[in-house]
Amino acid sequence: MSAFVRVVLDRSIRRELDYAVPDALAEKVAVGSRIRVPFRDKSLLATVVAELDESPAEGIKPIEALIGEKPTLSSSLIELARWMANYYCCPIETVMRSLLPQVIRKAKVSWKKQLFVAPTRQPSPEEIEKLRRRAPRQAELLSAVAQLPGPIPATDLLRQTLLDNATLRALVRRGWAELREQEMARDPHAAEKFVADSELTLNSEQTAALQLVAAALENPATHPPILLHGVTGSGKTEVYLQAIRATLARGKTAIVLVPEISLTPQTVERFKSRFAEQPEMVAVLHSHLSEGERHDEWHKLHSGNARIVIGARSAVFAPLENLGLIVVDEEHETSYKQEEAPRYHARDVAIVRAKIEKCVVLLGTATPSLESYHNAERGKYVLSNLTQRVDQCQMPLIRIVDLRQERRKEKAAPILSEKLRNAIEIRLNNKEQTILFLNRRGFSTSLLCSQCGKARDCPNCSVALTFHRTNTRLSCHLCGHSAAVPKRCPECGEDALIYAGFGTEKVEANVSAIFPHAVVRRMDADSMTRKDAYRETLHAFRAGKIDILVGTQMIAKGLHFPNVTLVGIINADLALHLPDFRAGERTFQLLTQVAGRAGRGETPGEVFVQTYTPFSPSIQFARHHDFAGYFQQELEFRERCDFPPFKHVVLITVRSEHEARASFSAETLARRLKEALPEEFSLGAPAPAPLEKLQGHYRFHILLRGAAIMRLSRMIRETLDKLPFPEDVAVAVDVDPYQLL
Ligand code: ADP
Ligand code: ZN
Repeated sequence: MSAFVRVVLDRSIRRELDYAVPDALAEKVAVGSRIRVPFRDKSLLATVVAELDESPAEGIKPIEALIGEKPTLSSSLIELARWMANYYCCPIETVMRSLLPQVIRKAKVSWKKQLFVAPTRQPSPEEIEKLRRRAPRQAELLSAVAQLPGPIPATDLLRQTLLDNATLRALVRRGWAELREQEMARDPHAAEKFVADSELTLNSEQTAALQLVAAALENPATHPPILLHGVTGSGKTEVYLQAIRATLARGKTAIVLVPEISLTPQTVERFKSRFAEQPEMVAVLHSHLSEGERHDEWHKLHSGNARIVIGARSAVFAPLENLGLIVVDEEHETSYKQEEAPRYHARDVAIVRAKIEKCVVLLGTATPSLESYHNAERGKYVLSNLTQRVDQCQMPLIRIVDLRQERRKEKAAPILSEKLRNAIEIRLNNKEQTILFLNRRGFSTSLLCSQCGKARDCPNCSVALTFHRTNTRLSCHLCGHSAAVPKRCPECGEDALIYAGFGTEKVEANVSAIFPHAVVRRMDADSMTRKDAYRETLHAFRAGKIDILVGTQMIAKGLHFPNVTLVGIINADLALHLPDFRAGERTFQLLTQVAGRAGRGETPGEVFVQTYTPFSPSIQFARHHDFAGYFQQELEFRERCDFPPFKHVVLITVRSEHEARASFSAETLARRLKEALPEEFSLGAPAPAPLEKLQGHYRFHILLRGAAIMRLSRMIRETLDKLPFPEDVAVAVDVDPYQLL
């Protein structure tokens, strides 16, 4: 019970404020409470971050209202928010926005209310008979009501009895039944039935992994995070499920993070089914929930009715108490990084939350990130290995196709090399399935003039427009700009436009032309705009109705298709040539993940990797399934160049619609940073970003590196706070960036 509280407003004012707690609320207001406070002439929502006995502030006003009985956020989550603000160099108000889903923050949506019918007293047969003579339909309804085991929604009762609302109201007037308004949850999975499934008998590697988690649960305060390195199909998910069971047995709760893209009905079903004995046990949080559903799932966790949450990035902030375990599946996934402020990485936040709440962390992946594997090597994490596929399947055979030779053979390099064509032919004859992977949408990646050499660029971004054949238009994949296809080159007026480069649309067209009798489908962001398209296509593919599936990373992750025996990677070089120190790591991971789609059934799989750089290390190591070898050489490269995991990187982007102002501001900022930062931090000269222009803004980068990231972050913030930037210049600080364009 404190006289004052310190609060963070929902609005960014970069300052925390003190308010007085009126006596009536003194018992209830605590750290993490959501409240309404007066600010200037407005009434604003805010979060309590500290309780104070006294306050140095003057003219303190009292809190207006408290929202909810129990604090919305735990004090651990407030501590986590503080850490995030310091580490990621951003205002705590911004962190708060991510900590709570908007629907909870705004506190406008509530539980869905429904009218429930219940009998008031049990009628005798004579009484029903008597009613039947005067009002037969009421009597019919009354006998139905009398048989109810408990209250049920009025709409359900009327639907079952085929009677109407007037009849029900009449029955209520006569005093035979009563209507009550009750809260009920909107269950996003209400239509599905989850059949309880039981635990599988673990193999020896899985058993060892589970024992490690069990030991950690004994000693959560001191046990380091566990890195579960298991090849695709080695049964990691089964280890998670049994680890969660052990966590629940200790009266604790669990968070499971998965990348949004693999949060498929398939994944959710595995968790819901395993804990089906209590239907409310598993809550799901992801971006496709309605506001109402998100409200309900969140409150199920907050009230303690649900004790497991499975969700994407932001589920790391799930309001669970007594947290025992956080699982981060596919820990290497870059989608755990949020690309807007606060620019946090959910795996790293999970580790800090676990430290604060003294709980166990289990990171799982087939291709550990360099950061995590390095942590395991130097003893900060404990490593556990699953080296065998559960089904004893062989790892697929990976064949490299040198596109340079193909080009020599056929003049222009074909989309499908002869070797890949033959391999597809064999699959079609055997009634087996093929996946073709290309990480680029559209038909042609640019429209060039063969006369003057100019490409059609986006007017807002420094990239070429992609030609899409479905709507025969040019479009920008960065800002969505769309333009008609010109007849002649607008630069030189010649009728000499040619299409160059190719994306998934063209692969689909090309494959259909070569194999006219095969059923070919495409799966990418363009073809999957309809809500159910993704599910339908996967279903058709699993049912064997599609022979060849062409797609982007949408098909690379976590899907399990026993009849796929061939995977073709159309161009493995796309990621390799990006100006990004993680390019090699991404290529290695992608090849390994995509290859993992092949041969999960009885027939061994085969993978064809088409590339112009067949000897690049990430391709060669992926080919031999040699993670350790790849890791060693990549680590040496990172150490030589002072990149993570040896040094932290901070990327500052300065942007403006006016090029000169962006460039000038970047220069000024760099100069101030140079004055402020000690020698131990390295500071690169400001330079135009590789993607110089984006959505009409000119962009400049400043790259910083250092080991002591908290200190570096603080110094950057102090420097920024002292510098007045022009209105039309925006500065973004990205700590541990994953996007270097
Ligand atoms: P991963 O998550 O490592 O890719 P999964 O957990 O999805 O692997 O396991 C692949 C398949 O093997 C699943 O169908 C799963 O039910 C099955 N499986 C996992 N562990 C066992 C086990 N111990 N015995 C039998 N089947 C198992
Ligand atoms: Zn654009």
